[in-house]
Amino acid sequence: MLTDSALHSDTLFSREQLIRLFNSEDESELCRLINDAENKIVSNFDNSIKLIGQINFSNYCEENCNYCDLREENFSLDRTRFTADEIINKAIQVSNLGLKTIVLESGKDTYFDTDIIAYIIYSIKQKADISIILSLGERGFEEYKRWKLAGADSYLLKFETSNPQLFSKVHNGMNLDVRLRHLSYLKKVGFNVGSGSIIGLPNQTIGDMVNDIFLCDELELDFCVFSSFIPQPFTPMQNSSECSENLLVKFLTLSRLVLSSKDISFLSVNESGFSKYNSTGLKSGMNITILSFPFDIEEDSLLLYPSKKKRKKSPSEIHSDMKIMVEGLGKKVAG
Ligand code: SF4
Repeated sequence: MLTDSALHSDTLFSREQLIRLFNSEDESELCRLINDAENKIVSNFDNSIKLIGQINFSNYCEENCNYCDLREENFSLDRTRFTADEIINKAIQVSNLGLKTIVLESGKDTYFDTDIIAYIIYSIKQKADISIILSLGERGFEEYKRWKLAGADSYLLKFETSNPQLFSKVHNGMNLDVRLRHLSYLKKVGFNVGSGSIIGLPNQTIGDMVNDIFLCDELELDFCVFSSFIPQPFTPMQNSSECSENLLVKFLTLSRLVLSSKDISFLSVNESGFSKYNSTGLKSGMNITILSFPFDIEEDSLLLYPSKKKRKKSPSEIHSDMKIMVEGLGKKVAG
């Protein structure tokens, strides 16, 4: 067992220590680790949680990732897109809620070409004082450059797993090296770069997850975004088991302890788990939470994940519910 003093300092965890902690069933040890992770939020972020808005503007995708219900071969999904002006107006609405950062997210949808995305970014920046994170999948180097010049601040491209074989398997033959090369392109053009992994993928080992945490460190990311695996209907992985809450807590807690002052967000990908998992993430060391906004009942069908279609809360209700949750956990809201 690690000594208390080791756990309470900025210890460099070894791979073996992390594997042992992942495998440990000692509840009191886990409680101490969670407490240490919470202390890092207090010391590094003044016990504040940053809220970020997210607009999922297209559920078209040209890829076929086996875990994702947006995959091109999911013919059961109703596909839809916002217009450029709708996206701009929605970004302004998010800004009017007082949020300082927005994620513009879609599947890989080249209908939104270089110029349209540049126009959207430029227009939002003219009309709202808001930082823009793009999350548009792997695109071209020239596109990244244009979008940075148009005013986008950050780009989120998750590596999803650091295991090359597992990456290829869950991404239908895609290549982890290519994904990592895109992350280096994004850095090269000057974006703040965010990435991260999926926790609890089928056939993912504890060693893989430890490597995921270390890869976040090695990549010198500006922020990390994790999500937990939840099987989605009409995908090849629909019958696999969901990531357990215990594994999720351990992963997020150990990520915080290893990554220390790094911005970390956890993205819940299933509306049925929205409250539970955001609360879990907030208690386990994340300091950013991403709010996905529907704008009216008709537009609910646009939301990225079909299971979210039932949600009928307004943006201000979603925003205020999250503030209540954060403050109920004894934390402050930032942004
Ligand atoms: S994970 Fe992203 S790229 Fe893959 S199918 Fe889903 S939306 Fe498309």
